[in-house]
Amino acid sequence: MSEALESYLSGAWRRGEGVDTELVDPVHGNVLATASARGLDLKAALNHARKRGGPALRALSFAERAKLIGAVADVLIADRPKYEAIAIANSGNTKIDAAIDIDGGIGTLKYYARLGGSLGGATFLLDEKPVRLAKAENFQAIHLLAPRHGVAVHINAFNFPSWGLWEKAAVSLLAGVPVLCKPASSTAMLTHAMVRDVIAANILPEGALGLVCGGAGDLLDHVRGEDVIAFTGSSDTASRIRKHPNILAQGVLVNVEADSVNAALLAPDGAPGQPAFDAFIKEVSREMTVKAGQKCTAIRRVFVPTERADAVAEALVARLTKTTLGDPRNEATRMGPVITRGQQAAAFDGILKIAREAQVLTGGATAPAIDGIDPDKSAFVAPTLMCAPDANGSAVHDTEVFGPSATIIPYKDEAQAFALVARGGGSLVASVFGDDRAFFARAVAELGPSHGRLLMVEPSVADAHTGHGIVMPQCHHGGPGRAGNGEELGGLYGLRLYHQRLAVQGSSDLMTELQAKAFALH
Ligand code: NAP
Repeated sequence: MSEALESYLSGAWRRGEGVDTELVDPVHGNVLATASARGLDLKAALNHARKRGGPALRALSFAERAKLIGAVADVLIADRPKYEAIAIANSGNTKIDAAIDIDGGIGTLKYYARLGGSLGGATFLLDEKPVRLAKAENFQAIHLLAPRHGVAVHINAFNFPSWGLWEKAAVSLLAGVPVLCKPASSTAMLTHAMVRDVIAANILPEGALGLVCGGAGDLLDHVRGEDVIAFTGSSDTASRIRKHPNILAQGVLVNVEADSVNAALLAPDGAPGQPAFDAFIKEVSREMTVKAGQKCTAIRRVFVPTERADAVAEALVARLTKTTLGDPRNEATRMGPVITRGQQAAAFDGILKIAREAQVLTGGATAPAIDGIDPDKSAFVAPTLMCAPDANGSAVHDTEVFGPSATIIPYKDEAQAFALVARGGGSLVASVFGDDRAFFARAVAELGPSHGRLLMVEPSVADAHTGHGIVMPQCHHGGPGRAGNGEELGGLYGLRLYHQRLAVQGSSDLMTELQAKAFALH
Protein backbone atom coordinates (compact mmCIF):
# COMPACT_ATOMS: atom_id res chain seq x y z
CA MET A 1 0.00 0.00 0.00
CA SER A 2 1.27 3.49 -0.83
CA GLU A 3 1.83 5.99 1.99
CA ALA A 4 -0.85 8.66 2.56
CA LEU A 5 1.19 11.83 3.16
CA GLU A 6 0.12 13.66 6.28
CA SER A 7 0.13 17.40 6.87
CA TYR A 8 1.77 19.01 9.90
CA LEU A 9 -0.76 21.50 11.23
CA SER A 10 -1.32 23.09 14.66
CA GLY A 11 1.49 21.04 16.18
CA ALA A 12 0.41 17.56 15.01
CA TRP A 13 0.59 15.28 11.96
CA ARG A 14 -2.88 15.01 10.42
CA ARG A 15 -4.27 12.95 7.57
CA GLY A 16 -6.70 14.47 5.05
CA GLU A 17 -9.74 12.59 3.83
CA GLY A 18 -9.55 10.35 0.77
CA VAL A 19 -7.10 10.84 -2.10
CA ASP A 20 -6.75 14.10 -4.04
CA THR A 21 -3.53 13.25 -5.86
CA GLU A 22 -1.58 10.07 -6.54
CA LEU A 23 2.16 10.62 -6.55
CA VAL A 24 3.73 8.42 -9.20
CA ASP A 25 7.12 7.25 -10.37
CA PRO A 26 7.30 8.90 -13.83
CA VAL A 27 9.56 6.11 -15.15
CA HIS A 28 7.27 3.16 -14.43
CA GLY A 29 3.96 4.80 -13.59
CA ASN A 30 3.46 3.05 -10.22
CA VAL A 31 1.83 4.95 -7.36
CA LEU A 32 4.31 5.82 -4.58
CA ALA A 33 2.11 7.83 -2.22
CA THR A 34 -1.12 9.79 -2.06
CA ALA A 35 -1.93 13.29 -0.84
CA SER A 36 -5.05 14.98 0.42
CA ALA A 37 -5.62 17.86 2.81
CA ARG A 38 -9.39 17.60 2.55
CA GLY A 39 -11.19 18.19 5.82
CA LEU A 40 -8.12 19.61 7.60
CA ASP A 41 -8.56 22.82 9.58
CA LEU A 42 -6.29 25.26 7.77
CA LYS A 43 -7.79 28.28 9.52
CA ALA A 44 -6.75 26.84 12.89
CA ALA A 45 -3.29 26.04 11.48
CA LEU A 46 -2.79 29.66 10.40
CA ASN A 47 -3.92 30.89 13.81
CA HIS A 48 -1.59 28.45 15.56
CA ALA A 49 1.37 29.74 13.53
CA ARG A 50 0.38 33.37 14.24
CA LYS A 51 -0.12 32.80 17.98
CA ARG A 52 2.67 30.32 18.77
CA GLY A 53 5.28 30.36 16.01
CA GLY A 54 5.46 34.10 15.38
CA PRO A 55 5.97 35.28 18.98
CA ALA A 56 8.51 32.50 19.66
CA LEU A 57 10.58 33.43 16.61
CA ARG A 58 10.34 37.15 17.25
CA ALA A 59 11.62 36.63 20.80
CA LEU A 60 14.93 35.55 19.23
CA SER A 61 17.58 37.75 17.65
CA PHE A 62 18.67 37.34 14.03
CA ALA A 63 21.77 35.44 15.16
CA GLU A 64 19.69 33.06 17.31
CA ARG A 65 17.30 32.36 14.43
CA ALA A 66 20.29 31.87 12.15
CA LYS A 67 21.54 29.12 14.47
CA LEU A 68 18.21 27.31 14.14
CA ILE A 69 18.43 27.56 10.35
CA GLY A 70 21.93 26.08 10.45
CA ALA A 71 20.65 23.23 12.63
CA VAL A 72 17.86 22.53 10.11
CA ALA A 73 20.52 22.23 7.40
CA ASP A 74 22.50 19.78 9.57
CA VAL A 75 19.44 17.55 10.03
CA LEU A 76 18.94 17.44 6.26
CA ILE A 77 22.60 16.70 5.55
CA ALA A 78 22.40 13.66 7.84
CA ASP A 79 19.60 12.10 5.77
CA ARG A 80 20.66 13.16 2.28
CA PRO A 81 20.76 9.62 0.75
CA LYS A 82 17.11 9.08 1.72
CA TYR A 83 16.10 12.36 0.03
CA GLU A 84 18.06 11.50 -3.10
CA ALA A 85 16.21 8.18 -3.41
CA ILE A 86 12.86 10.00 -3.09
CA ALA A 87 13.84 12.59 -5.71
CA ILE A 88 14.84 9.83 -8.12
CA ALA A 89 11.62 7.89 -7.53
CA ASN A 90 9.01 10.67 -7.36
CA SER A 91 10.58 13.33 -9.60
CA GLY A 92 12.45 11.14 -12.09
CA ASN A 93 15.61 13.05 -11.14
CA THR A 94 19.10 11.92 -12.05
CA LYS A 95 21.61 12.22 -9.19
CA ILE A 96 22.73 15.58 -10.61
CA ASP A 97 19.13 16.83 -10.82
CA ALA A 98 18.50 15.68 -7.26
CA ALA A 99 21.65 17.46 -6.08
CA ILE A 100 20.47 20.76 -7.59
CA ASP A 101 17.24 20.47 -5.63
CA ILE A 102 18.50 18.95 -2.36
CA ASP A 103 21.92 20.58 -2.07
CA GLY A 104 20.47 23.80 -3.45
CA GLY A 105 18.04 23.81 -0.52
CA ILE A 106 20.67 22.89 2.07
CA GLY A 107 23.15 25.40 0.60
CA THR A 108 20.58 28.19 0.81
CA LEU A 109 19.86 27.33 4.46
CA LYS A 110 23.60 27.34 5.22
CA TYR A 111 24.05 30.65 3.40
CA TYR A 112 21.27 32.33 5.42
CA ALA A 113 22.56 30.76 8.64
CA ARG A 114 25.94 32.42 8.00
CA LEU A 115 24.45 35.70 6.86
CA GLY A 116 22.00 35.82 9.77
CA GLY A 117 24.83 35.15 12.22
CA SER A 118 26.45 38.36 11.06
CA LEU A 119 23.36 40.38 12.11
CA GLY A 120 24.12 39.59 15.77
CA GLY A 121 21.66 40.42 18.55
CA ALA A 122 19.51 42.76 16.41
CA THR A 123 15.75 42.23 16.09
CA PHE A 124 14.97 44.98 13.57
CA LEU A 125 16.58 46.16 10.36
CA LEU A 126 17.47 49.82 9.89
CA ASP A 127 16.84 50.85 6.32
CA GLU A 128 18.30 54.33 6.22
CA LYS A 129 20.22 56.72 8.43
CA PRO A 130 18.15 59.03 10.71
CA VAL A 131 16.92 62.25 9.10
CA ARG A 132 16.05 65.55 10.77
CA LEU A 133 12.46 66.64 10.13
CA ALA A 134 12.04 70.05 11.76
CA LYS A 135 13.98 73.03 13.04
CA ALA A 136 14.38 71.29 16.38
CA GLU A 137 17.46 69.10 16.07
CA ASN A 138 16.13 66.45 18.40
CA PHE A 139 13.05 65.59 16.25
CA GLN A 140 14.07 62.94 13.77
CA ALA A 141 12.87 59.95 11.75
CA ILE A 142 14.32 56.58 10.92
CA HIS A 143 13.11 53.87 8.57
CA LEU A 144 12.88 50.47 10.20
CA LEU A 145 11.96 47.05 8.89
CA ALA A 146 9.94 45.18 11.52
CA PRO A 147 9.07 41.45 11.19
CA ARG A 148 5.45 40.90 10.16
CA HIS A 149 3.13 39.43 12.78
CA GLY A 150 1.48 37.02 10.36
CA VAL A 151 2.31 33.76 8.62
CA ALA A 152 4.45 33.25 5.52
CA VAL A 153 2.27 31.05 3.34
CA HIS A 154 4.59 29.39 0.85
CA ILE A 155 2.91 27.79 -2.16
CA ASN A 156 5.49 25.95 -4.24
CA ALA A 157 5.88 24.44 -7.71
CA PHE A 158 6.43 20.76 -8.44
CA ASN A 159 9.92 21.05 -9.86
CA PHE A 160 11.81 21.99 -6.67
CA PRO A 161 10.26 20.16 -3.69
CA SER A 162 13.43 20.78 -1.64
CA TRP A 163 14.97 24.02 -2.91
CA GLY A 164 11.54 25.65 -3.24
CA LEU A 165 10.78 24.83 0.38
CA TRP A 166 14.07 25.96 1.91
CA GLU A 167 14.89 28.98 -0.26
CA LYS A 168 11.69 30.54 1.06
CA ALA A 169 11.69 29.10 4.59
CA ALA A 170 15.31 30.12 5.30
CA VAL A 171 14.49 33.76 4.64
CA SER A 172 11.18 33.95 6.48
CA LEU A 173 12.47 32.05 9.53
CA LEU A 174 15.48 34.38 9.67
CA ALA A 175 13.04 37.30 9.47
CA GLY A 176 11.12 35.86 12.45
CA VAL A 177 7.99 34.90 10.49
CA PRO A 178 6.52 31.37 10.82
CA VAL A 179 6.04 29.28 7.68
CA LEU A 180 3.09 27.31 6.38
CA CYS A 181 4.38 25.49 3.34
CA LYS A 182 2.21 23.96 0.62
CA PRO A 183 4.28 21.99 -1.87
CA ALA A 184 2.84 20.97 -5.24
CA SER A 185 0.93 17.75 -4.65
CA SER A 186 2.55 15.70 -7.42
CA THR A 187 6.07 15.77 -5.87
CA ALA A 188 5.26 16.44 -2.21
CA MET A 189 7.05 13.28 -0.99
CA LEU A 190 10.43 14.98 -0.66
CA THR A 191 9.08 18.07 1.10
CA HIS A 192 7.10 15.80 3.42
CA ALA A 193 10.14 13.67 4.31
CA MET A 194 12.30 16.70 5.01
CA VAL A 195 9.70 18.49 7.14
CA ARG A 196 9.02 15.26 9.05
CA ASP A 197 12.72 14.96 9.93
CA VAL A 198 13.06 18.61 10.91
CA ILE A 199 9.96 18.44 13.13
CA ALA A 200 11.20 15.20 14.72
CA ALA A 201 14.55 16.87 15.48
CA ASN A 202 12.63 19.43 17.57
CA ILE A 203 14.83 22.36 16.52
CA LEU A 204 12.27 25.00 15.67
CA PRO A 205 9.83 26.57 18.12
CA GLU A 206 6.31 25.16 18.10
CA GLY A 207 4.28 26.70 15.28
CA ALA A 208 7.31 27.95 13.30
CA LEU A 209 6.93 25.39 10.48
CA GLY A 210 3.72 23.83 9.16
CA LEU A 211 3.03 21.73 6.09
CA VAL A 212 -0.02 21.16 3.89
CA CYS A 213 0.22 17.99 1.78
CA GLY A 214 -2.58 18.07 -0.78
CA GLY A 215 -4.67 20.76 -2.47
CA ALA A 216 -4.89 24.26 -1.03
CA GLY A 217 -8.59 23.79 -0.15
CA ASP A 218 -9.91 26.86 1.67
CA LEU A 219 -6.44 28.08 2.73
CA LEU A 220 -6.73 31.40 0.90
CA ASP A 221 -10.08 32.14 2.58
CA HIS A 222 -8.29 32.41 5.93
CA VAL A 223 -5.16 34.45 5.20
CA ARG A 224 -5.16 37.94 6.71
CA GLY A 225 -3.58 41.31 6.09
CA GLU A 226 -0.59 40.57 8.32
CA ASP A 227 0.29 37.39 6.38
CA VAL A 228 2.36 37.19 3.22
CA ILE A 229 1.94 34.70 0.40
CA ALA A 230 5.04 33.67 -1.53
CA PHE A 231 3.88 31.75 -4.58
CA THR A 232 5.92 29.87 -7.16
CA GLY A 233 4.18 28.26 -10.10
CA SER A 234 2.37 29.04 -13.30
CA SER A 235 1.07 32.48 -14.30
CA ASP A 236 -2.47 31.05 -14.45
CA THR A 237 -2.45 29.95 -10.81
CA ALA A 238 -0.72 33.19 -9.81
CA SER A 239 -3.49 35.21 -11.35
CA ARG A 240 -6.14 33.09 -9.60
CA ILE A 241 -4.42 33.69 -6.26
CA ARG A 242 -4.04 37.43 -6.89
CA LYS A 243 -7.74 37.72 -7.77
CA HIS A 244 -8.97 35.65 -4.83
CA PRO A 245 -11.71 37.72 -3.12
CA ASN A 246 -10.26 37.32 0.40
CA ILE A 247 -6.76 38.28 -0.76
CA LEU A 248 -8.15 41.39 -2.42
CA ALA A 249 -10.39 42.24 0.53
CA GLN A 250 -7.62 41.83 3.13
CA GLY A 251 -4.91 43.41 0.97
CA VAL A 252 -2.61 40.41 1.48
CA LEU A 253 0.89 40.86 0.08
CA VAL A 254 1.48 38.28 -2.68
CA ASN A 255 4.94 37.63 -4.09
CA VAL A 256 4.84 35.77 -7.38
CA GLU A 257 7.59 33.73 -9.03
CA ALA A 258 5.93 32.55 -12.23
CA ASP A 259 6.85 31.14 -15.60
CA SER A 260 9.31 32.66 -17.96
CA VAL A 261 10.66 32.21 -21.50
CA ASN A 262 14.30 32.86 -20.67
CA ALA A 263 16.84 33.70 -23.34
CA ALA A 264 20.45 32.95 -24.17
CA LEU A 265 22.05 35.35 -26.64
CA LEU A 266 25.16 34.68 -28.69
CA ALA A 267 26.77 38.07 -29.36
CA PRO A 268 27.43 39.13 -32.97
CA ASP A 269 31.15 38.38 -32.50
CA GLY A 270 30.52 34.80 -31.21
CA ALA A 271 31.95 32.48 -33.85
CA PRO A 272 32.65 28.72 -33.85
CA GLY A 273 36.05 27.88 -32.39
CA GLN A 274 35.93 30.78 -29.93
CA PRO A 275 35.60 30.14 -26.18
CA ALA A 276 32.36 32.14 -25.94
CA PHE A 277 30.77 30.05 -28.70
CA ASP A 278 31.77 26.79 -27.02
CA ALA A 279 30.53 28.03 -23.62
CA PHE A 280 27.23 29.03 -25.25
CA ILE A 281 26.66 25.59 -26.79
CA LYS A 282 27.57 23.83 -23.55
CA GLU A 283 25.25 26.00 -21.47
CA VAL A 284 22.25 25.78 -23.82
CA SER A 285 22.44 21.99 -24.03
CA ARG A 286 22.96 21.69 -20.27
CA GLU A 287 20.00 23.95 -19.55
CA MET A 288 17.79 21.93 -21.89
CA THR A 289 18.59 18.58 -20.31
CA VAL A 290 19.23 19.20 -16.58
CA LYS A 291 16.05 18.28 -14.66
CA ALA A 292 14.62 17.39 -18.07
CA GLY A 293 14.27 21.13 -18.72
CA GLN A 294 11.95 21.64 -15.73
CA LYS A 295 13.61 24.71 -14.28
CA CYS A 296 11.80 28.04 -14.24
CA THR A 297 15.14 29.58 -15.24
CA ALA A 298 15.91 27.16 -18.12
CA ILE A 299 16.84 28.58 -21.51
CA ARG A 300 13.82 28.44 -23.83
CA ARG A 301 14.87 30.90 -26.57
CA VAL A 302 18.31 30.76 -28.19
CA PHE A 303 19.20 33.96 -30.06
CA VAL A 304 22.02 33.71 -32.60
CA PRO A 305 23.32 35.89 -35.44
CA THR A 306 21.65 34.66 -38.68
CA GLU A 307 25.01 33.67 -40.19
CA ARG A 308 25.75 31.43 -37.16
CA ALA A 309 22.34 29.69 -37.00
CA ASP A 310 23.47 26.59 -38.90
CA ALA A 311 26.66 26.17 -36.88
CA VAL A 312 24.77 26.56 -33.59
CA ALA A 313 22.06 24.11 -34.71
CA GLU A 314 24.65 21.55 -35.76
CA ALA A 315 26.63 21.81 -32.52
CA LEU A 316 23.52 21.61 -30.33
CA VAL A 317 21.95 18.70 -32.22
CA ALA A 318 25.26 16.81 -31.91
CA ARG A 319 25.22 17.20 -28.12
CA LEU A 320 21.50 16.64 -27.59
CA THR A 321 21.33 13.44 -29.62
CA LYS A 322 24.12 12.01 -27.45
CA THR A 323 22.05 12.52 -24.27
CA THR A 324 21.16 9.10 -22.83
CA LEU A 325 17.52 9.02 -21.75
CA GLY A 326 16.30 6.41 -19.32
CA ASP A 327 15.64 5.33 -15.78
CA PRO A 328 17.67 7.65 -13.54
CA ARG A 329 18.47 4.67 -11.30
CA ASN A 330 20.74 3.56 -14.14
CA GLU A 331 24.21 5.21 -13.86
CA ALA A 332 24.42 5.68 -17.65
CA THR A 333 21.28 7.83 -17.76
CA ARG A 334 21.89 11.53 -18.39
CA MET A 335 18.27 12.67 -18.56
CA GLY A 336 15.17 11.28 -16.86
CA PRO A 337 11.47 11.81 -17.59
CA VAL A 338 9.38 14.87 -16.86
CA ILE A 339 7.44 14.68 -13.65
CA THR A 340 4.05 13.27 -14.72
CA ARG A 341 2.23 12.17 -17.83
CA GLY A 342 0.19 15.37 -17.49
CA GLN A 343 3.41 17.41 -17.73
CA GLN A 344 4.50 15.28 -20.69
CA ALA A 345 1.22 16.07 -22.48
CA ALA A 346 1.60 19.79 -21.66
CA ALA A 347 5.18 19.78 -23.01
CA PHE A 348 4.03 18.06 -26.22
CA ASP A 349 1.24 20.66 -26.63
CA GLY A 350 3.78 23.47 -26.27
CA ILE A 351 6.19 21.89 -28.75
CA LEU A 352 3.36 21.46 -31.31
CA LYS A 353 2.32 25.09 -30.83
CA ILE A 354 5.84 26.39 -31.49
CA ALA A 355 6.41 23.86 -34.29
CA ARG A 356 3.61 25.53 -36.29
CA GLU A 357 6.02 28.44 -36.73
CA ALA A 358 9.30 26.56 -36.50
CA GLN A 359 11.29 23.64 -37.86
CA VAL A 360 11.93 20.72 -35.49
CA LEU A 361 15.67 19.91 -35.67
CA THR A 362 15.68 17.06 -33.16
CA GLY A 363 13.17 15.47 -30.76
CA GLY A 364 9.48 16.30 -31.08
CA ALA A 365 6.06 15.80 -29.58
CA THR A 366 6.01 12.03 -29.27
CA ALA A 367 7.28 9.75 -26.52
CA PRO A 368 10.81 8.54 -27.36
CA ALA A 369 11.45 4.78 -27.56
CA ILE A 370 13.63 3.72 -24.62
CA ASP A 371 14.73 0.14 -23.94
CA GLY A 372 12.82 -1.46 -21.07
CA ILE A 373 10.47 1.50 -20.58
CA ASP A 374 6.77 1.42 -21.38
CA PRO A 375 5.82 4.58 -23.31
CA ASP A 376 2.22 4.22 -22.10
CA LYS A 377 3.21 4.43 -18.44
CA SER A 378 6.25 6.72 -18.44
CA ALA A 379 6.59 10.47 -19.00
CA PHE A 380 9.64 10.99 -21.23
CA VAL A 381 10.16 13.89 -23.62
CA ALA A 382 13.16 13.79 -25.96
CA PRO A 383 15.45 16.84 -25.97
CA THR A 384 13.72 18.97 -28.59
CA LEU A 385 15.47 21.72 -30.53
CA MET A 386 13.56 23.86 -32.98
CA CYS A 387 14.47 26.81 -35.20
CA ALA A 388 12.07 29.72 -35.76
CA PRO A 389 13.49 31.96 -38.49
CA ASP A 390 10.37 34.13 -38.90
CA ALA A 391 10.90 37.20 -36.74
CA ASN A 392 7.14 37.86 -36.77
CA GLY A 393 6.18 34.54 -35.15
CA SER A 394 4.75 34.78 -31.66
CA ALA A 395 4.39 31.23 -30.27
CA VAL A 396 8.08 30.95 -29.44
CA HIS A 397 7.97 34.13 -27.36
CA ASP A 398 4.68 33.29 -25.64
CA THR A 399 4.98 29.57 -24.93
CA GLU A 400 6.89 28.13 -21.99
CA VAL A 401 7.46 24.46 -22.81
CA PHE A 402 8.20 23.16 -19.31
CA GLY A 403 10.45 20.36 -20.50
CA PRO A 404 13.68 19.73 -22.43
CA SER A 405 12.92 22.06 -25.31
CA ALA A 406 14.39 25.25 -26.74
CA THR A 407 14.14 27.15 -29.99
CA ILE A 408 16.85 28.88 -32.02
CA ILE A 409 15.82 32.35 -33.20
CA PRO A 410 18.21 33.95 -35.72
CA TYR A 411 18.67 37.75 -35.55
CA LYS A 412 20.08 40.07 -38.19
CA ASP A 413 21.50 42.82 -36.01
CA GLU A 414 21.90 43.91 -32.41
CA ALA A 415 18.77 46.09 -32.34
CA GLN A 416 16.62 43.23 -33.59
CA ALA A 417 18.19 40.82 -31.08
CA PHE A 418 17.37 43.07 -28.12
CA ALA A 419 13.83 43.70 -29.40
CA LEU A 420 13.17 39.98 -29.89
CA VAL A 421 14.46 39.03 -26.43
CA ALA A 422 12.09 41.60 -24.87
CA ARG A 423 9.15 39.84 -26.55
CA GLY A 424 9.33 37.29 -23.72
CA GLY A 425 7.31 39.85 -21.76
CA GLY A 426 9.56 39.78 -18.69
CA SER A 427 11.79 36.87 -17.70
CA LEU A 428 13.79 35.58 -14.77
CA VAL A 429 17.15 35.43 -16.52
CA ALA A 430 18.98 35.99 -19.78
CA SER A 431 22.57 35.13 -20.54
CA VAL A 432 24.85 36.74 -23.09
CA PHE A 433 27.92 35.02 -24.54
CA GLY A 434 30.63 36.96 -26.39
CA ASP A 435 33.93 38.76 -26.11
CA ASP A 436 33.02 42.42 -26.54
CA ARG A 437 32.56 44.40 -23.31
CA ALA A 438 30.91 47.32 -25.11
CA PHE A 439 28.27 44.90 -26.40
CA PHE A 440 27.76 43.50 -22.89
CA ALA A 441 27.25 47.03 -21.53
CA ARG A 442 24.64 47.80 -24.23
CA ALA A 443 22.96 44.43 -23.50
CA VAL A 444 22.71 45.31 -19.77
CA ALA A 445 21.00 48.60 -20.65
CA GLU A 446 18.64 47.05 -23.21
CA LEU A 447 17.81 43.68 -21.60
CA GLY A 448 18.05 44.73 -17.95
CA PRO A 449 14.57 46.22 -17.59
CA SER A 450 12.86 43.02 -18.74
CA HIS A 451 14.90 40.62 -16.58
CA GLY A 452 15.60 39.83 -12.95
CA ARG A 453 19.12 38.57 -13.63
CA LEU A 454 21.67 38.75 -16.44
CA LEU A 455 24.59 36.33 -16.80
CA MET A 456 27.37 37.78 -18.96
CA VAL A 457 29.83 35.15 -20.16
CA GLU A 458 33.11 36.29 -21.66
CA PRO A 459 36.10 33.95 -22.04
CA SER A 460 37.60 34.84 -18.64
CA VAL A 461 34.51 33.46 -16.82
CA ALA A 462 33.54 30.75 -19.31
CA ASP A 463 34.64 27.98 -16.95
CA ALA A 464 34.04 29.82 -13.69
CA HIS A 465 30.40 30.94 -13.89
CA THR A 466 27.73 29.28 -11.75
CA GLY A 467 25.33 28.64 -14.64
CA HIS A 468 22.44 30.34 -16.39
CA GLY A 469 19.77 28.41 -14.52
CA ILE A 470 21.27 28.12 -11.06
CA VAL A 471 19.73 30.54 -8.57
CA MET A 472 22.38 31.78 -6.14
CA PRO A 473 21.03 32.99 -2.76
CA GLN A 474 23.35 36.01 -2.93
CA CYS A 475 21.54 37.23 -6.08
CA HIS A 476 18.09 38.59 -6.73
CA HIS A 477 15.60 35.96 -7.91
CA GLY A 478 12.45 37.03 -9.71
CA GLY A 479 11.56 38.76 -12.94
CA PRO A 480 9.21 41.48 -14.16
CA GLY A 481 5.97 41.12 -16.14
CA ARG A 482 5.11 37.57 -17.05
CA ALA A 483 7.68 36.20 -14.57
CA GLY A 484 5.47 37.62 -11.80
CA ASN A 485 7.36 40.71 -10.54
CA GLY A 486 8.52 38.70 -7.54
CA GLU A 487 11.58 39.43 -5.43
CA GLU A 488 13.23 36.61 -3.51
CA LEU A 489 16.70 35.91 -2.10
CA GLY A 490 19.40 38.45 -2.97
CA GLY A 491 21.09 38.16 0.44
CA LEU A 492 19.65 40.51 3.07
CA TYR A 493 17.35 42.11 0.50
CA GLY A 494 15.18 38.96 0.61
CA LEU A 495 14.28 39.70 4.25
CA ARG A 496 12.21 42.71 3.14
CA LEU A 497 9.31 40.55 1.95
CA TYR A 498 8.73 39.37 5.51
CA HIS A 499 9.14 42.78 7.16
CA GLN A 500 6.98 45.89 7.29
CA ARG A 501 8.89 49.03 6.36
CA LEU A 502 7.94 51.95 8.53
CA ALA A 503 9.08 55.43 9.37
CA VAL A 504 9.40 56.14 13.08
CA GLN A 505 9.33 59.81 14.03
CA GLY A 506 10.38 60.93 17.48
CA SER A 507 13.16 62.25 19.64
CA SER A 508 16.77 61.71 18.68
CA ASP A 509 17.26 59.87 21.98
CA LEU A 510 14.56 57.35 21.02
CA MET A 511 16.15 57.00 17.57
CA THR A 512 19.48 56.17 19.20
CA GLU A 513 17.81 53.56 21.39
CA LEU A 514 16.02 51.95 18.43
CA GLN A 515 19.18 51.97 16.35
CA ALA A 516 20.91 49.94 19.05
CA LYS A 517 18.38 47.13 18.53
CA ALA A 518 18.60 47.29 14.73
CA PHE A 519 21.06 46.02 12.13
CA ALA A 520 21.88 48.80 9.67
CA LEU A 521 21.43 47.72 6.07
CA HIS A 522 23.39 50.70 4.78
P1 NAP B 1 1.01 25.35 -10.69
O1 NAP B 1 0.16 24.34 -11.31
O2 NAP B 1 0.69 26.78 -10.89
O3 NAP B 1 1.06 24.98 -9.13
C1 NAP B 1 1.89 25.68 -8.24
C2 NAP B 1 1.35 25.52 -6.82
O4 NAP B 1 0.09 26.19 -6.72
C3 NAP B 1 1.10 24.08 -6.41
O5 NAP B 1 1.48 23.93 -5.05
C4 NAP B 1 -0.41 23.94 -6.56
O6 NAP B 1 -0.95 22.94 -5.73
C5 NAP B 1 -0.84 25.31 -6.10
N1 NAP B 1 -2.17 25.71 -6.51
C6 NAP B 1 -2.84 25.36 -7.62
N2 NAP B 1 -4.05 25.97 -7.64
C7 NAP B 1 -4.12 26.72 -6.51
C8 NAP B 1 -5.11 27.57 -5.95
N3 NAP B 1 -6.26 27.80 -6.57
N4 NAP B 1 -4.87 28.15 -4.76
C9 NAP B 1 -3.70 27.95 -4.12
N5 NAP B 1 -2.73 27.15 -4.60
C10 NAP B 1 -2.93 26.55 -5.78
O7 NAP B 1 2.54 25.20 -11.14
P2 NAP B 1 3.40 23.86 -11.27
O8 NAP B 1 2.86 23.10 -12.43
O9 NAP B 1 3.54 23.19 -9.96
O10 NAP B 1 4.84 24.45 -11.61
C11 NAP B 1 5.30 24.73 -12.91
C12 NAP B 1 5.36 26.20 -13.17
O11 NAP B 1 6.06 26.85 -12.12
C13 NAP B 1 6.12 26.53 -14.42
O12 NAP B 1 5.37 27.44 -15.18
C14 NAP B 1 7.40 27.19 -13.92
O13 NAP B 1 7.96 28.14 -14.80
C15 NAP B 1 6.97 27.80 -12.66
N6 NAP B 1 8.12 27.93 -11.74
C16 NAP B 1 8.60 29.17 -11.47
C17 NAP B 1 9.68 29.32 -10.62
C18 NAP B 1 10.23 30.67 -10.27
O14 NAP B 1 11.01 30.77 -9.31
N7 NAP B 1 9.88 31.72 -10.98
C19 NAP B 1 10.27 28.18 -10.03
C20 NAP B 1 9.75 26.93 -10.34
C21 NAP B 1 8.67 26.82 -11.20
P3 NAP B 1 -1.35 21.49 -6.29
O15 NAP B 1 -0.10 20.88 -6.82
O16 NAP B 1 -1.86 20.80 -5.08
O17 NAP B 1 -2.38 21.73 -7.35
